[in-house]
Amino acid sequence: MDRLWGMVTHDIGIDLGTANTLVLVVGKGIVIREPSVVALHKKSKQIIAIGTEAKKMVGKMPANLTYVRPLRDGVISDFDITMAMLKFFIKKVHVREGLLPKLARPRVVIGIPSGVTPVEKRAVQDATLEAGAREVYLVEEAMAAAVGAGLPINEATGSMIVDIGGGTTEIATISLGGMVANKSLRIAGDEMDQDIINYARSRYNLLIGERTAEEVKLAAGWAFPGTVRQSKLRGRDLATGLPREISVSSDEIGEAISTTLNQIIDAIKDTIEETPPEIVADFIQSGIVITGGGSLLPGLSERIASELKMPVITAKDPLTTVVRGTGLILEDRELLKKVKSRGGLSV
Ligand code: ADP
Ligand code: MG
Repeated sequence: MDRLWGMVTHDIGIDLGTANTLVLVVGKGIVIREPSVVALHKKSKQIIAIGTEAKKMVGKMPANLTYVRPLRDGVISDFDITMAMLKFFIKKVHVREGLLPKLARPRVVIGIPSGVTPVEKRAVQDATLEAGAREVYLVEEAMAAAVGAGLPINEATGSMIVDIGGGTTEIATISLGGMVANKSLRIAGDEMDQDIINYARSRYNLLIGERTAEEVKLAAGWAFPGTVRQSKLRGRDLATGLPREISVSSDEIGEAISTTLNQIIDAIKDTIEETPPEIVADFIQSGIVITGGGSLLPGLSERIASELKMPVITAKDPLTTVVRGTGLILEDRELLKKVKSRGGLSV
């Protein structure tokens, strides 16, 4: 029976990230890449837009509208909104790929932040089944990231993965197909944006928005001195109430986000300390792998390497590591058995 299904259906991998949701169809590749953002009416909670459409509206909304990033902190803050978002993306795959002729119900692997509770996991699973899946498996994001980054997770060789996303940094040491030590830190890219907002206010008495802060981080941020870039903080002068624009360079942005970077590095250190020495000995040689959007910050691998005195490697295409990992897990039954999350569910 299973083989028959295999012929008519496509399996789906989902990275339900704090900043971005990606969906991959096995055999076709990544078909959806959209922000994990939902725009809604403030009072009625009626949903206006989801994903890319919703993110376009952020910072430009009239007073009766608002937006939610339901996974922002690595936990599900608003259950109904998360489920609406998940169903929207799954439906979109079906429409786009035309691949849900009623019989072909996909198997789905979803990478979720490790802070999600067993009750929430169960609910994500139920919602996915309701959206038309035949089987649903949840996988810790760090594990999916390690698989997607090509780490030898099944071998008796220790590996370390650090996935720096928007809302959370997932850190894990892995050996023999399991996590040896892990941490989910609620500090990542969003916190750096917040640092830049605070910096603009305290240094220049300038009020800037979240989107501007992120743009400046991307344009001029660094974690370690390198090529200097310039950008502009555009906002409202808190003294005059009028718009004002200030040029900033990588030096300043690097300084603004430095404390956050140190907190991430401290959490990596703590995780290493909780890992048995033989396993640490392995990745001292092979290197720590960093991934997620945050790993694209220029100089981050150099900064971590210089603080921890270990080689650090940035994964290839770090924004898609987790979703590619879910795809590889779907293609390997043994691997799926090993890595599926045991938190409160069994299908
Ligand atoms: P999540 O998995 O939590 O959804 P992502 O892995 O998609 O998060 O990463 C999103 C974060 O990465 C955002 O905070 C974004 O600002 C940040 N980011 C993306 N590109 C860069 C870059 N080039 N430099 C620094 N930060 C980046
Ligand atoms: Mg992620």
